[in-house]
Amino acid sequence: MSDEKSEKWQNPVAGFGVTFKAMFKKRLTEQYPEQEKTTAPRFHGRHQLNRHPDGLEKCIGCELCAWACPADAIYVEGADNTEEERYSPGERYGRVYQINYARCILCGLCIEACPTRALTMTNEFELADASRESLIYTKEQLLAGLTEGMVDTPHSIFPGMDEQDYYRGLVTGAAPGTERQVAVSKGEVPASNGAGNGAAAEGVGA
Ligand code: SF4
Ligand code: SF4
Repeated sequence: MSDEKSEKWQNPVAGFGVTFKAMFKKRLTEQYPEQEKTTAPRFHGRHQLNRHPDGLEKCIGCELCAWACPADAIYVEGADNTEEERYSPGERYGRVYQINYARCILCGLCIEACPTRALTMTNEFELADASRESLIYTKEQLLAGLTEGMVDTPHSIFPGMDEQDYYRGLVTGAAPGTERQVAVSKGEVPASNGAGNGAAAEGVGA
């Protein structure tokens, strides 16, 4: 080290130069969680499984998202729709859907792979939790809520429409009189059996 440099480093006041400069700079400290941070509009946060305008689910259980995931964080089980228990307009739907947020790196490859835009990402980033189990989000947690004009699944397809019509944007809401069907595959029992559960008996909407 040259004499000039060593003299500078030995001067105790010179060391405060950085401190003084920083004192007049704009503060970068964020007061989180007291003041919630606003994310960029396209921030990759928690996933969401979307619905068609009448409430039917967009997921067709194809598993493309699971195959695209580099972290092996998605588990999907597809199943066939029936006229008595329909979750999506086409042949298949996602019966089981799970995302493990202990593995997910929020890269977004899964949403790129989804052919129906069933899977998108929200701006929600508060995903920390205390156990591994609670970091595995189920279909019920990921499924988008109901908005005006929607009826909860399962329910019948819009009369006179087919799957393609849904993607052409021809269905803008549930047909008048649409009622929620009984989710037999989830253990619900028809009310006429005398042991119907609340969800089956309540019917539409909720
Ligand atoms: S965001 Fe990336 S890591 Fe997370 S589930 Fe999708 S593909 Fe997998
Ligand atoms: S979210 Fe998309 S890619 Fe994944 S199973 Fe459903 S339809 Fe297929």
